[in-house]
Amino acid sequence: MTGILSHAVTFVRRPSPNADLPFGAADLRWVTNTSTLIFGKSDAILVDTFMTLDENRTLIDWFASFGRNLRYVYVTHGHVDHYYGVHQILESFPNARAISNPESAARAREDSSPERVQSQWNVMFPGQMDQNPTSPEPFDADHLDLEGHRIQFIQTGFTDTQDSSAIWVPDLRLVVAGDAAYNNIHQWTAETTAESREEWARAAEELAKLNPVHVVAGHKDPGRDDSPQILAETAQYLRDFNSAATHSSTALELYTAMLERYPAARQPRSPMGRSTSCKALREALVQTRIDSRSLFGESVPVLHFVGSSKQILSSADIKQLSGRDRCGSVRYRLSDGTRSARSRRRQRARSR
Ligand SMILES: [Zn+2]
Repeated sequence: MTGILSHAVTFVRRPSPNADLPFGAADLRWVTNTSTLIFGKSDAILVDTFMTLDENRTLIDWFASFGRNLRYVYVTHGHVDHYYGVHQILESFPNARAISNPESAARAREDSSPERVQSQWNVMFPGQMDQNPTSPEPFDADHLDLEGHRIQFIQTGFTDTQDSSAIWVPDLRLVVAGDAAYNNIHQWTAETTAESREEWARAAEELAKLNPVHVVAGHKDPGRDDSPQILAETAQYLRDFNSAATHSSTALELYTAMLERYPAARQPRSPMGRSTSCKALREALVQTRIDSRSLFGESVPVLHFVGSSKQILSSADIKQLSGRDRCGSVRYRLSDGTRSARSRRRQRARSR
């Protein structure tokens, strides 16, 4: 005989770092993270943590208000904004175990190294990050039992990063999607390719086949419901992005197309991240005024702008970008860094 199972969702909102966006409404430049609690009469599972020290303190207080015994923290994928609270939570609830699939655990372990904390998280979020983060432990089973209710783990493949997963709770008809679904927030496409975006779209559609009643996105506009509709919206966004990538020849064109298509979506930084990656060479040339001939030198780093963060692309990265079209159908003209006016005209004619 099993008792009643329930769930609750909380979120945190922070400004998204996007100081050098070309345009986009300032009041939309924020992002949320969600955390979902699944709980029975006495035990609970928390799905995903938050990122900063303050955010995770808030999460711990929120969880404590339920008066449940925390058995597991499940991390849906290895991104810092989803797992970085594991250390704080386990300190507060030492009987809990933090788990994720083995690939996400390995990714989180890499991103928790002292070098990474210093070189990346402390630079991006000064004074806000735990200096001793803990990664979740690798967990291979495909489900857990919570007071007699099945908590099913679904491997969703490459969503906004590799080896992502989601949770399906049949007795609640609940999908906790991690970043397989977004809810009116520009999706993080910076790590994706045209092929992986299609894989992500199909993963969202597979989750919809479970016929859920509630779908919690990893990032949601708090003004919207956790409706299963967001799975179709997530897939549509990705196909719109692929179409826009095909029909644009610069980062700015792609960015503009996505902001026009989704004028009310939060975090306009996201499409800029992918736009710059897709169209990296030309934009890097424009933004950093580096002579294109130097791109082929072994030692010349190129400043590559992703949102407000400046990443150094190695010459190996550049060769990878230039050798193959990672964005699907956009061709780079490396010799002069631009496409010809004739090819742009041809493309416009095709898209009409
Ligand atoms: Zn995320």
